[in-house]
Amino acid sequence: MAPERAFGELGELVVSFVQPYQARKRYQCPGCSGWIEPGVGHLVVVPEMAADLRRHWHRGCWWKEQRRLGAITAAANTPQAGTSPAGGQTPPPH
Ligand SMILES: [Zn+2]
Repeated sequence: MAPERAFGELGELVVSFVQPYQARKRYQCPGCSGWIEPGVGHLVVVPEMAADLRRHWHRGCWWKEQRRLGAITAAANTPQAGTSPAGGQTPPPH
């Protein structure tokens, strides 16, 4: 499966699915702070600029994160989209 690309606070991200048989360790999901147990298929998200900052996510948590990031990048990439954004760009929480 080809990795997907996303865009986040650390720049461009490479998102790959980790198959259940490839998941041999326990990871903590930054989305919900819960654990991803060995043998559970999940996603690994690697910032292109900082590969050591890779994170393992539950699929559902990454979807939610994408929606959150999508709102940010959509605002940044399409300044002329539809009605004016009314200057309401909220900075990321960290
Ligand atoms: Zn999670």
